[in-house]
This record gives sequence, C-alpha cells and structure tokens, in this order.
Amino acid sequence: MIGVSEALYKLLSSFSAVASEVVPLEKAAGRILSEDIKSEIDLPLFTNSSMDGFAVRAEDVERADPRQPVKLFVVEDIPAGKKPSRILGKNQGSRIMTGALIPDGADAVIPIEDTDHYDPESRTEPGFPEEIEVYRSVEPGDYIRKKGEDISAHETVLVSNSRLRPQDVGLLAMLGKAKLSVYRRPRIVILSTGDELLPVETPLELGKIHDSNAYTLSALITRDYGEPVYLGIVPDREQAVREFLVEAVKKDADLILSSAGVSVGAFDFVRTVVQSDGSLDFWRVNMRPGKPLAFGNFQGVPFIGLPGNPVSAFVGYEVFVRPAIRKLAGMNESPRKRIKTKILENVNSDGRESYLRAVVKFHNDEWIARLTGHQGSGNLLSLVQANALLIIPSGVKSLPSGTEVEAWLFDSS
Ligand code: AMP
Ligand code: MG
Repeated sequence: MIGVSEALYKLLSSFSAVASEVVPLEKAAGRILSEDIKSEIDLPLFTNSSMDGFAVRAEDVERADPRQPVKLFVVEDIPAGKKPSRILGKNQGSRIMTGALIPDGADAVIPIEDTDHYDPESRTEPGFPEEIEVYRSVEPGDYIRKKGEDISAHETVLVSNSRLRPQDVGLLAMLGKAKLSVYRRPRIVILSTGDELLPVETPLELGKIHDSNAYTLSALITRDYGEPVYLGIVPDREQAVREFLVEAVKKDADLILSSAGVSVGAFDFVRTVVQSDGSLDFWRVNMRPGKPLAFGNFQGVPFIGLPGNPVSAFVGYEVFVRPAIRKLAGMNESPRKRIKTKILENVNSDGRESYLRAVVKFHNDEWIARLTGHQGSGNLLSLVQANALLIIPSGVKSLPSGTEVEAWLFDSS
C-alpha cells in the first residue's frame, strides 16, 4: 500500500495544464491566465489632476495664505475628458476637474476648498469665475498624478497561471485588454457506480440510497475551476462499467472521476475494467478514510476511482483530486495552507494518515479543535457540521487532549 505523499507525487506528476482559449474580458473573472500581461501604455496615460480645483504655477501662489490670499485670473475650464487650450502664464489659473489633463505651464493644483470659489453646501457652479483668491501655497507636483506613475509601458502587471480576481479584471479593463488568453476549464467526467444508487428525484426504497457523491463531486469540481460532466449511475456489471468508461473518453474527459466499486467487493468491477484497457498506478492508499482509491488511465485518459462512502469520497477528492484539477486548470499554487490547532479531546487513530472532521475556532489567541462526533465514513452530517479536517500523521495511534495537530480549513464558498 502506498503512502499519501508518494501517491500524491505520482499522481500529480502525470497531469499538466490543459490548452488555452481566448475569452472576452467580461467572461474572464475567475479564470486562470495562460499568458503574462504586460501593459502597452503608461498609466495614467497623461499627467492629470487628482482634485477638483485650479491648475496653477506654484511660484505664483508661493506667499498665499488665508490672511493674504493671492489673486489669479482664470483663463479656462478644463473638465475631465477635454484637452486644455491655453498655456498658463504668470498669475493665471485654469479651473480643472479631477482626472483632467494638466495644461502646459501649470505645475500644481490648488484644491477648490482652498480658494474663495468654494461653497461646502453646494456643487461648484458651471461657468468659471474670472478671478479667484487662493488661500494656500503648493509645491510643484502637488495634487498632480504624473503620466506613468502607476504603471509604465512594458511593465508586467499580471502573471500567467494566476487566477483572475475582480480587481485584476478591472486593471485589465484599464489597460484596454478586451480579450485574453486563459486556460480552458478542465472537463471532469463523473461516474457513480453501484446498483443501490437512485437519482435524487426517485423516491427511496428498501436497499437503495440516493447518489449523493455525484452532487458533492460536481460542486467540488466547480469550486476548483473545472467543468463537471455527470454521466449518470453505472450498474455493477462489468460490461456496463466498460460502456460508461468508453462514453467518458468520448466526452473528451481530461479526467474520469468515479466513485465506489474500486474495493474488494464481489461486484467491484471498476479496477478490472480500467486495467483491461489502461493501467492502474495504485489502488490502495495508506489513509483513513479513503483507503480504496485508485489512480491510472483508461484508454490514455487519467482516471481516479474514489471510494464510495460519501465522506471517503470527499476526503479522497480533497487530498488527490483537488490538486490534480487545479494543475489541469493551469493554476500554479503551493500546497494547501495548513493551520496548527490544539485538539481538546483524546484522539485515537489506527496508524494510517487520518483526516478527521472537526470544528476549529480561534479562541483566546489560539486555534482549538473538537471532533464533530461519530467519524463513520458514511456519516455525511458530521462533515456538514465540520469546518476543517484535522490531519493525523501516519504512524500515530493516539494523541492526548491538548496536542497540537495540523488542519485544513474548508473554503467558505
Ligand atoms: P463501494 O465502494 O461500492 O463498496 O461502496 C461503499 C459505500 O458507499 C456503500 O455503502 C455504498 O452504498 C456507498 N456509495 C457508493 N456510491 C455512492 C454514491 N454515489 N452516493 C452515496 N453513497 C454511495
Ligand atoms: Mg458498490
């Protein structure tokens, strides 16, 4: 039986990022960039005002203060979006709005609040005054945003393999990138195997259960930037398993993900069928829950067979499938972040690397954890009540209350 880290290493080394596609910017949020983004322009593109006020020559207002205001003659109005038409001369100013081009001759802006042309109760009148009184001095450059001060042309602003966040797409819009190259979403074809399974809309009968794994797995795949394609419930017959796997290949799967039927039961055909037209690298991992977990390929398409029990399927997904899909999706990321938490009860393990459902919280300056009751691998409610998985290393059989362990916090979405 293979250990978790060796299995993960083996599995991840056989995945690489899928191809890219070009998408319009409005569809780009959440996607993974497949190119570095360089700005072709300076930003700001032009030197502009950071305040509503008056563009001035700093030397003209050097001695201005509220008791000895300096008078300036206003030569024009420069709204945002308009080009100035006058060059400022001595003792002249131009009324200017935030974001508008600084006129030639000016080297600073006086905020409107520091002039007599200011009424805190109302918006500034349209129509500029002929003269103003300035109540303060400024240094050259004050209230001016210089061309290129945020971003210079040819600067790399976003790197390939990163996920586009809302602020990233905003920046891309600023740069005028209407289309960009992102990795396409990996297609993950899901199969649920088992004669006991019924679709969620079919009422239960004795001996049957609803197929819940397909729903959990689809949601996890979507979370991890993949595209789930659910093929349905596969009966426990060798021929049926083969037909579904062939169908999965036809759907252009980047990964075939099945649950159940990979253990040692009399009707567990998945391994046999995969091996008949592909190969398995491993099918048992030294972990709990989730020991019967298979990895290989069917007709050259990567295949992961998760255990059937809902908690085992979830844990197997988090440990192996999540990093695999993120790698397929083109993400370049370090291993999942772990926190260190104290456990507030005695914990027993069987020596396998164990993933235990727990509620973890930050209390009095430290993380503390309690298990969410019965840890049976079919008990999905205890996973629903948990917000973390505690990771008990292999070889450990018991941990007294108060011991520190590592944990994965679940994502909030
Ligand atoms: P198996 O690996 O086929 O032995 O299944 C192990 C356990 O998981 C059994 O109790 C199955 O009924 C259960 N199981 C298998 N597939 C699913 C599924 N898709 N949804 C919920 N439970 C399942
Ligand atoms: Mg079964």
